[in-house]
Amino acid sequence: MRVAPGPLAELVDVGLEVPVLGGGRVRHVNLDIAASAPALSAVAAHVAAVLPYYASVHRGTGYASQASTALLEDARIAVARHVGARLDDLVVVTRNTTDALNLLAGAVPGETVVLDIEHHANLLPWERRGRRVVAARPTFAATLDELAAELARRPAALLSVTGASNLTGEVLPLEALADLAHAHGARLAVDAAQLLPHRRVDLAASGIDYLAFSGHKAYAPFGAGALVGRADWLDAAAPHLAGGGAVESVSIESAEWKTGPERHEAGTPNVVGAAALARALVELERLGDDARGAHEDALAARLHHGLAARHGVRVLRGFDDLDDRLGIATIELERGSVGLVAAALAAEHGISVRAGRFCAHPFFDRLATRANGLRVSLGAGSSADDVDRFLDGLARLVADGP
Ligand code: PLP
Repeated sequence: MRVAPGPLAELVDVGLEVPVLGGGRVRHVNLDIAASAPALSAVAAHVAAVLPYYASVHRGTGYASQASTALLEDARIAVARHVGARLDDLVVVTRNTTDALNLLAGAVPGETVVLDIEHHANLLPWERRGRRVVAARPTFAATLDELAAELARRPAALLSVTGASNLTGEVLPLEALADLAHAHGARLAVDAAQLLPHRRVDLAASGIDYLAFSGHKAYAPFGAGALVGRADWLDAAAPHLAGGGAVESVSIESAEWKTGPERHEAGTPNVVGAAALARALVELERLGDDARGAHEDALAARLHHGLAARHGVRVLRGFDDLDDRLGIATIELERGSVGLVAAALAAEHGISVRAGRFCAHPFFDRLATRANGLRVSLGAGSSADDVDRFLDGLARLVADGP
């Protein structure tokens, strides 16, 4: 199957050349997109354009402060529109997904049910208010039954799931999960750190109550993420951060906290990060969900096809009945060390991947037979040549045959 690099590759700066062992330089192949995606060139240009207006927001009367305030508030609107937020949903600008889920964990008025397939960011924060972990089954259908039984056994305030696994790339059926949560009087939060950069999410249409994601995985530079969702819990919760900007008025004895996103955003906000995040989402819309999806699906198929043909390589799967997978594959090797293979891919072939347990230790330990895995992940700027260089490098490093 041939996959053309496509116009998407040109939107990302792929010009980097890196030195390799033995001399010379090769084009860098970044197959660690699930960790952080390089900024789209249009986003980088936008960041450069807004830097002259870099000023403190809301309280300044000067032009730069007004411009920065508008950038921050426009960013909220762009984020809300992109994710199909309901009119009364809040968009809180956070540092990243981890920050967003910790914020929600401080607002949830009861226990949270999670699956054991989660990234640590969607596993650890809930311990504060009571967490119940349901072990996923080999099929999503059976897992849904387990979740239903757990929610029926004892009420929970929230069901919090990943939109797509950072280990297997499997995309979870979110509408079914929202229906299940609502049928048991709970709300649904989705960790969309992996999903949102690759699939369009619509809160109003799908029934998702809260969505958390990171700009740096969605082709914006580091620093900003968002929590989007229902206002009532967020307005009633103790502020995520206490300090200036989150209060109406303060006396030595007491503080009158604001409602709305500012309640949780004390301190000087990351205006440039928010503007970059919003611009990245607008840019993804401009590229078109269908064109992006088709490009990434074709590359993912090429990757999986190549991996399946390699002897001694096992691709981790969580659910037998989920066919929709992002361009993420975690493999383990029958023989040899994935750490050494990952290092050799970088040093000898100029290819970046990742080795380890990917901040999803319980899920990894359940699926894997070895101590560590090697993860390859693709994005909008990846090309067929990237996939082929990886498969070729792997073939040279991993002995074929018994
Ligand atoms: N959730 C998932 C599924 C992830 O893959 C990650 C990061 O890899 C996170 C949450 C945490 O994202 P961040 O480090 O940007 O907070």
